[in-house]
Amino acid sequence: MSRYIRERYKNFSAYTPGEQPKEMEYVKLNTNESPFPPAPGVSRCLDEVDMKQLRLYPDPTGHTLKAKIAELYGVEPENVFLSNGSDDILNFSMMAWCDEDDKLLFPDISYSFYEVIAKLHDVNYRKVPLQEDMTINYKDYCQEDTNIIIPNPNAPTGIALSLDVIEEIVKANPNHVVLIDEAYVDFGADSAVPLIKKYDNILISQTFSKSRSFAGGRLGFAIGDKGLINDLITMQYSTNPYSVNTMSLILAGAALDEDAYYRKNSEIIQKNREWTDQALTELGFTVLPSKANFVFARHPKVDGEKMYLRLKEKGVLVRHFTTERIQDYVRITIGTEEQMKVLIEKVKEILQEA
Ligand code: PMP
Repeated sequence: MSRYIRERYKNFSAYTPGEQPKEMEYVKLNTNESPFPPAPGVSRCLDEVDMKQLRLYPDPTGHTLKAKIAELYGVEPENVFLSNGSDDILNFSMMAWCDEDDKLLFPDISYSFYEVIAKLHDVNYRKVPLQEDMTINYKDYCQEDTNIIIPNPNAPTGIALSLDVIEEIVKANPNHVVLIDEAYVDFGADSAVPLIKKYDNILISQTFSKSRSFAGGRLGFAIGDKGLINDLITMQYSTNPYSVNTMSLILAGAALDEDAYYRKNSEIIQKNREWTDQALTELGFTVLPSKANFVFARHPKVDGEKMYLRLKEKGVLVRHFTTERIQDYVRITIGTEEQMKVLIEKVKEILQEA
């Protein structure tokens, strides 16, 4: 850091993104991307894009894409917010709704970005411990009427909450915003989008990065009451009004036209997840019950760091976290059948050596 940095950021630690190695020889199972390419219609659309459009700024309202998302999710375009990846939604939410003396709750084992942004904005947050079995006790979030972020399914555990439990949380915090981060919802959990019709204090955040094979396109969206959406727009327009670029707006629209393709891929991922879960369990791993496109697993003989390093040496990239309580685990993104077979083969070799 330079000597010019603001006093409040002097000891600030930024989020560490997962590795994106240049050499593509790795079986890359570390950042929960889709192993499948975008739908054929997305490539076709790219071929047909009139590049002259790039001369102009993008439509800051993104109304064409909003209308498509609204139709698919059964809401009005005014209930939809578009962002440069869903990380931006998390950022704007903390800017918009977390007063300094308002507490923000999120699980202790969760997406580590929440804590980074909370610190960035000086938000008064509290991490709520997961239970012994790594599940969320929803009653912990029903005590004090406050702001809440819960990923559903949770990351990196992959464990999902049911819709009725989420509704209890929303009802118990009527004067604050409950943000349900549904980055991984398309892999088998229930979406809370229908609840926006009953409650004005729930915001659902989703992304094109995982189930729609578009992590590089950076497209996130939120669904909620019009009032909440307008708050997010205010934050976005005060930060970077053109944050969703023209190419992403166009290509994401083409992706929505091929929803069936992505739903089929999601079914394949779920099938591969069940296969991987079983194969790892047979090898002596404890695998948490995942509804996401990854599994979180640990082995009694090889700790998480060693497993991660040995797999990397053997050409398979997974994710290891040094956070207390989860150091023993590795998070493995679910890829194609072939990729998962390679993973299991390499794990077997590592266990034999141990
Ligand atoms: N929420 C969770 C739980 C995530 O794991 C991620 C991806 N790291 C995001 C949100 C952000 O995804 P994106 O910005 O690519 O939409």
